[in-house]
Amino acid sequence: MDHSLTERADTCPVCAEDSVTLHQCCPNKKDSLCEPCWSKIISGEIERGRIGSLFLGELLCNFCNKPIERNRLPKDLQSRLNNILLTIPRTKTPKSIEDFNYSYKDSNHLTHSLTNEKFVFLSQRHYNALGACIDVYIQSVMKSDQWNYKEIWLPEKSENVDDHHDQVNIFTSNDFETNENGCLILLQGSGVVRLGQWARSCCINESLDIGSMFPYMKKAKEHGLSVIILNPNQTSYVEKQICDNGTTTLSDRKTNSTEQQSSATNRQADDKKTTDSDNDLISYYLSPDPLPYPITKKIPNLSTNREHVLHVYDNVISKCPAKKFYIVAHSAGGDGLMFLLRKRQNTILKKTWKVAFTDSVHSVLPLESNEIKNFLKLHAIHFVASDQPMGEELDSVYDFSHGSACQEVSAGHPKHEYTSGYCVEGVFNFFFPSDHNIDRTAF
Ligand SMILES: [Zn+2]
Ligand SMILES: [Zn+2]
Repeated sequence: MDHSLTERADTCPVCAEDSVTLHQCCPNKKDSLCEPCWSKIISGEIERGRIGSLFLGELLCNFCNKPIERNRLPKDLQSRLNNILLTIPRTKTPKSIEDFNYSYKDSNHLTHSLTNEKFVFLSQRHYNALGACIDVYIQSVMKSDQWNYKEIWLPEKSENVDDHHDQVNIFTSNDFETNENGCLILLQGSGVVRLGQWARSCCINESLDIGSMFPYMKKAKEHGLSVIILNPNQTSYVEKQICDNGTTTLSDRKTNSTEQQSSATNRQADDKKTTDSDNDLISYYLSPDPLPYPITKKIPNLSTNREHVLHVYDNVISKCPAKKFYIVAHSAGGDGLMFLLRKRQNTILKKTWKVAFTDSVHSVLPLESNEIKNFLKLHAIHFVASDQPMGEELDSVYDFSHGSACQEVSAGHPKHEYTSGYCVEGVFNFFFPSDHNIDRTAF
């Protein structure tokens, strides 16, 4: 690219700055702008999550409505964009967030491994693929020496087999079978979230302090509680994976290792020049079309959110030696918990000490037993999405026709997905009010 063709010193038509180098980045010469103006336009597109269209050659110039050409933009801007392009994996089967050049490193914020910039949205397909790798990352941290959590596969199989493709995993702290003091039961909402997360979007855009269950795991440890984390959204397993070209293949490791090899070869072949394969990966990840759904089968006895909760209670939680259960249920997790309370009222209410709902969708039915109604009135709290300071009493915001089931306070954040992360202090102050009083007198 001969830059003398695209740059000329003149007055910028947008900001009216004199004697500046102008960059023509669209077919219309009159739309040549100075570097700060281009930078503003591109930054705006990045912030609005629309920069993916520039990489596809589909971002239109505001003035002539023709595509902006990325390789005509000012050099510094191009290198910023090239760094963003590095978040597109060199394989169609990424295995880790490192494949996206993202990491959590020492902080709890997802950042670009090379530039430390925060996450940039490119496309829904790219976002979903990264999200799946964040699931893997969070579970790997839970299994690591830091937490040493135990993975349990359900439904249990009679033999000790390594093949878990048709099961669902849950996690417990390593003292779950021995801790008689108390146990914290964490129940997430519905959707794409998996084990250890309250909200995937918060893990990506905010921090693990808000989006993950780590702060709750930490608090449980401080209070001498064991922990069990359910996985109620994993209700089916992949039987066959459909490739992008429409052919089906069993989701085996052979395909994946071949992909990884070819990506390693690409990396060696040429690091700087954009290759055909890079363009292929860019159009693959930035495609607006959803990926073909894999062929899945329901997991027997764990095929719905409610079945999952009941199965985990009957097969795992009911064997827990802890004298007291402390339960946190977010969003649809509240419905799962109410279902469990109804189905196993006689055993679970005896051991359940306190319940904290976080912006939950539970409701008390007209025919609800008095035991459940009274229990919730006395031992449950609901942290609701609100602008008010965390813990502030709210007037029946959830005015279901049957009234609120328990005390309702602000979670300290108006957005649903942030609530569990924001009210962790409030939840544990409710669980352990005496600690709270000590803290208060100390200040
Ligand atoms: Zn300008
Ligand atoms: Zn133009």
